[in-house]
Amino acid sequence: EPLLQGRELLQLYAAPTGPTQALRGVDVTVVGGRISAITGPSGSGKSTLLALLALRERPAGGELRHRGTLVSGLSRRRLQQLRRREIGWVAQRPTHSLFPQLDARGQIEQMARLRGVTCDPLDVLAEVELTGRAAALPAVLSGGEQQRLAVAAASVGTPALLVADEPTAELDDDSAALVLRLLRARADAGSAVVLATHDARAMAAADTVLRLRHGVLTGSASDGRAHTSMIDGQGRI
Ligand code: ADP
Ligand code: ADP
Repeated sequence: EPLLQGRELLQLYAAPTGPTQALRGVDVTVVGGRISAITGPSGSGKSTLLALLALRERPAGGELRHRGTLVSGLSRRRLQQLRRREIGWVAQRPTHSLFPQLDARGQIEQMARLRGVTCDPLDVLAEVELTGRAAALPAVLSGGEQQRLAVAAASVGTPALLVADEPTAELDDDSAALVLRLLRARADAGSAVVLATHDARAMAAADTVLRLRHGVLTGSASDGRAHTSMIDGQGRI
């Protein structure tokens, strides 16, 4: 059974000029054990699709299932529990997925507590070469360090779904490689890793690349070892 299954997903936003259709009938299936990249021009609906998959927004239309259960039928409490325990989320601005008052070590410990798992925070920080910054608050970290920390914290406990919005966009090659290596390790351990990205380095590291255009999934060109996976207009990621 897939982790997530979306059918005819639709999302609308109110805009001054009238409703914006951010997603129009997207079919998508998410399974564990692989890295999928969603690419497409700015405004094509990537962040919106990630927000639906991470159960942070409800679709305006269509049907989203989590392990076979309709998400629309889940209580707020159950949704929050799923978001905390099973879903790692890295916002486009990494500080939006970090606790401002906790140091780097505390971020990892807090995430482990929320998820009900145990881990050695220094081991997790070592994966992104941040052991030396264990006592630093997010505000004093560089942008690249914040990004590495946000990805590491979200990945604690190998969540069933690990979603990251442009996780490598602002990173130099060394930092991008650390982040992509960590994402690969979690995918190998079973997480479904889903990225929104424009970055060729991230697309090359993905197993699957899906393209969005004006809220519609289109299958086209491949990058690196990744291939676009579209069967009858349905993306399997
Ligand atoms: P991408 O991540 O590919 O840049 P988004 O999912 O952010 O695309 O946006 C898709 C469309 O929905 C855009 O037209 C954007 O302006 C609009 N949109 C996204 N989020 C909101 C929101 N919270 N309120 C209003 N419009 C939004
Ligand atoms: P929310 O209900 O808005 O998702 P929580 O109260 O669960 O937030 O958690 C507060 C903060 O903890 C979030 O703003 C975020 O910084 C972090 N956080 C919580 N859950 C996750 C998660 N699954 N992945 C990444 N960060 C998370």
